Amino acid sequence: MTNLRTLYHPAMYDPAPVPSYWEATAPGDDPSWRPLEGDDSCDVAIIGGGYTGLSTALHLARDHGIDARVLEAGDRIGWGASGRNGGFCCMPATKLTVAQMTRRFGLDETKRFFASQIEGVEFTRALIADNDIDCDPCGDGIYEVAHRPRAFGELKEYGETLERLFGIESTLYSPDEFREIGHDSTEQHGALKVSPSFALHPMKFVHGLARTAAKAGATLHPGSLVTRWLKEGDGHILTTARGTLRAKRIVVAANGFLRERMHRDFDGRVLPVISNIVTTRPLTATELAAQSWKTDCPLVNTRQLLFYYRMLPDNRLMLGARGDLTGSPADGDRMRAWMTRRVGEVFPAWRDVEIDHFWRGFVCISQRLAPSVGQLPDDSSVFYGFGYHANGVNTAPWTGMQVAAMIAGKTSEADLPAVIRGLPTRFPFAGLRLKYLAAAYRWYAFKDD
Ligand SMILES: Cc1cc2nc3c(=O)[nH]c(=O)nc-3n(C[C@H](O)[C@H](O)[C@H](O)COP(=O)(O)OP(=O)(O)OC[C@H]3O[C@@H](n4cnc5c(N)ncnc54)[C@H](O)[C@@H]3O)c2cc1C
Repeated sequence: MTNLRTLYHPAMYDPAPVPSYWEATAPGDDPSWRPLEGDDSCDVAIIGGGYTGLSTALHLARDHGIDARVLEAGDRIGWGASGRNGGFCCMPATKLTVAQMTRRFGLDETKRFFASQIEGVEFTRALIADNDIDCDPCGDGIYEVAHRPRAFGELKEYGETLERLFGIESTLYSPDEFREIGHDSTEQHGALKVSPSFALHPMKFVHGLARTAAKAGATLHPGSLVTRWLKEGDGHILTTARGTLRAKRIVVAANGFLRERMHRDFDGRVLPVISNIVTTRPLTATELAAQSWKTDCPLVNTRQLLFYYRMLPDNRLMLGARGDLTGSPADGDRMRAWMTRRVGEVFPAWRDVEIDHFWRGFVCISQRLAPSVGQLPDDSSVFYGFGYHANGVNTAPWTGMQVAAMIAGKTSEADLPAVIRGLPTRFPFAGLRLKYLAAAYRWYAFKDD
């Protein structure tokens, strides 16, 4: 029995592999990765086997010679958001505008944050190259596509700000220019290309990361939900269904799949938000031409309730959108139907194209509207990294490397950019989080029209 609490329908936490396109096209787990059994001990126990946890384990084992174990609730390593996302390796991992961030943290710290975000994209790219991870990287930037004419001016201003303040390369394309290199659509009114950014196969990437971490000496345990966490002296005892693990230090890398009442310091600090993805069957050359589709770069539109989309290497359209407020299978069916209809509205030539896959998962939002990385103030043996605001592909592997360096005593929380340093504040009346989200959705839908 466990007294862990979750915000959404139990279906969202079912540990079985999700029926995603990524799952259907990635290699299986290594048979040596087994659930934790019996009593064992280690130096660092990591809760969560996604990009954050695996990168922490890899860097602890390889760069610092520290014994690390990863406990993953899902039946498969990378079962959480890391194996289900859109594969966009882009930036920034924040919902703050540049002006808001500058007001709150000052221009120098805002610049440090953006520099760390660029570093994150290059860090993920280097992890792939240096460890021969076969994960289909593609594209040389991300396109932000104006969904209505007046958004084009806003994109122009945004691109100028990125270049002027942070030296981030951006190129603006009129609707006609973008039709020649990108695509046509009822919601295409010009686009801004931002680099560095690219796309990858997220499940192949998470498994490549897992294999690399295991090769470096880390131990991986899928099927090992931590149901209880006790402090004993200076150490910790984590309990799973079939075992217990004693550890000197703990890393919380559970992101949007964090269960509450596992450790009170983390309760009420995150808001998991459902993101959904559909993929079509492979499109023919004639069908691609009907929407003037040319690009292998990832794309997002300028809606607050945005669409993120890309053409996969086998010519399937992948399109993602934020979701419902329950996570129930019935609401999942409604989301799938709505997204199928929206594919046809945004790309009319593909109105009748079959949808082959639909799946969903949690992105992780916090009150600070930016990631949170650090060490608990009242227990220096507990570390964490979470809250990437749907930009974990570039931020989470980099965060894992930072957390490993902190554990090894090479850096400290104070060295991180102020924007991401320390815990976010708790949501006031945290039990009302989904009500706040419902209100935000209504406001965003109003602004998007
Ligand atoms: C549909 C979708 C689309 C997205 N698209 C993008 C995108 O295109 N680009 C991008 O950058 N980001 C995207 N994201 C976000 C991105 O996937 C995440 O930011 C990133 O994967 C976070 O990595 P993580 O390791 O911190 O968390 P996760 O990968 O979620 O891993 C956390 C793990 O912790 C485990 N866990 C939780 N509690 C326990 C416990 N008690 N015991 C043991 N294990 C536990 C969970 O099972 C989970 O696997 C998307 C997310 C979703 C859901």
